[in-house]
Amino acid sequence: MATALITGSSRGIGAAIALRLAEDGYDIALNDISEAMFEDNDIIDKIKAQGVMCESFVADVSSYDQCEQMVKDVKAKLGTIDVLVNNAGITRDGLLARMSEESFDSVIAVNQKSVFNMTKFVGSVMMKQRSGRIINLSSVAGLWGNPGQFNYSASKAAIIGMTKTVAKELGSRGITCNAVAPGFIKTPMTDKLTEAQKENILRMIAMRRYGTVEEIAGVVSFLASKDASYVTGQVIEISGGLSM
Ligand code: NAP
Repeated sequence: MATALITGSSRGIGAAIALRLAEDGYDIALNDISEAMFEDNDIIDKIKAQGVMCESFVADVSSYDQCEQMVKDVKAKLGTIDVLVNNAGITRDGLLARMSEESFDSVIAVNQKSVFNMTKFVGSVMMKQRSGRIINLSSVAGLWGNPGQFNYSASKAAIIGMTKTVAKELGSRGITCNAVAPGFIKTPMTDKLTEAQKENILRMIAMRRYGTVEEIAGVVSFLASKDASYVTGQVIEISGGLSM
């Protein structure tokens, strides 16, 4: 049985990806920064209802040491790691002129350094087995920039550079690495926007609606599937036609 590890997967897009990969037959390693996120949360039951194994692992993905330990723990409990989805992410929005050093550093640590940490340790597992799929969550903000998201855009653009580099470094070992760049998806992250911001955004989207977490999970499922075996180093925008 193949195993998928999805970071930041107790809720939102990460939970939807975990459920979709469970439906595809993967054993699932969930991750979140706090144990509390798995309490009063039916995600583990929903995944197990698909007839696969599911374990949760508490780790702060911005911590190099905690990522190393988590990868060891996932291997010990689930055997191997065939798919890594670097999904955990945060926002600390604000105009550059008013952005604190802490806001910048924390977003870079959680969104960007986490991809280094996780890809380094999981990549080593995948290199030994000479196969693997790595899928990173970028954003339209990383492709096109976004006012108020200097820190977030920087981290999501960096993910694109890391995706292409990993694709080039690990391709000969049978490992693919791709990114998805969601536009505006209905999650707790976008619920924080003001009504005025939401209306402005809808006007820019060709399909005039937000995306759903399932629509992101579907593309991730494709990138993890046999059908995507010759796709690597790519960024797939999932935005309902936002950037045209
Ligand atoms: P979300 O609902 O806020 O979920 C993010 C998850 O990551 C949460 O469970 C969060 O846990 C966890 N997390 C945060 N910091 C962590 C850390 N240091 N270590 C481990 N887990 C951590 O966000 P989402 O909207 O589903 O977004 C998922 C990914 O898609 C992110 O990378 C985001 O940037 C990207 N994305 C989202 C959108 C969108 O419209 N929603 C658009 C483009 C890209 P806590 O709640 O405990 O902090």
